[in-house]
Amino acid sequence: MKTLLAFDSDGVLRDESVSYQRCIIETVAFFDKGMPASIKELEVSMKQSNDDWERTHKILQQRGIKIDFLTVKEKFQDLYLGKNRDFSGYINDEPWLADNKLLAQLAEKYLLVIISGAPREEVEYTLKRNGALHHFSLILGMSDCEGKKDGLEKVMAQFKPQNVFFCDDRPLPIRQAKAVNHVRLYGILPPQNINEWAAVLQEAGAEQIFRNVNDYCRFVLDCKRNHR
Ligand SMILES: [Mg+2]
Repeated sequence: MKTLLAFDSDGVLRDESVSYQRCIIETVAFFDKGMPASIKELEVSMKQSNDDWERTHKILQQRGIKIDFLTVKEKFQDLYLGKNRDFSGYINDEPWLADNKLLAQLAEKYLLVIISGAPREEVEYTLKRNGALHHFSLILGMSDCEGKKDGLEKVMAQFKPQNVFFCDDRPLPIRQAKAVNHVRLYGILPPQNINEWAAVLQEAGAEQIFRNVNDYCRFVLDCKRNHR
């Protein structure tokens, strides 16, 4: 029986929250006389968009700064990846959340893939930096698929697995994945510790919630063992 495990990247395998936030704060300061984005602005923008380039642009617009989206995105990426896009920026500060030994055990038995809303090069770089790239058979990034449903359909068409497990830390991706038949959905709590988040993920359709990706990996290893 071929089983495929589809992982989300951000908030599940890597903690991108601090580095992204730092880019937003500093990009806003750069375009508005050194005034960084405030906690309040960050909170409000989080409700308006999941896309951190959009969030940065919105904060500036709401301050009355007239600037186009692409200019904002370029500055953000200067900070995140370095001016020459050589991965020398804040991407290097992101904590790795997965225990590679568990990933190795899973990869011995199952197909591991990543379906991410982030650019694929950034996900690959992070995996390489943390010595985990070789565990994954395929990585789909933001320009490889339109959302999680499309991503899941693509990997299922390619690998034709009998069982598919999907995990994510956000409600929208879980809802999208729910539209694909025969996929088991699991929620992973993101490292930021957001209040009531387990209920949010459960409500979106996750059948079980885990404290972190390593608890989830152990669960998959155990539940597969028990089914043999
Ligand atoms: Mg995520």
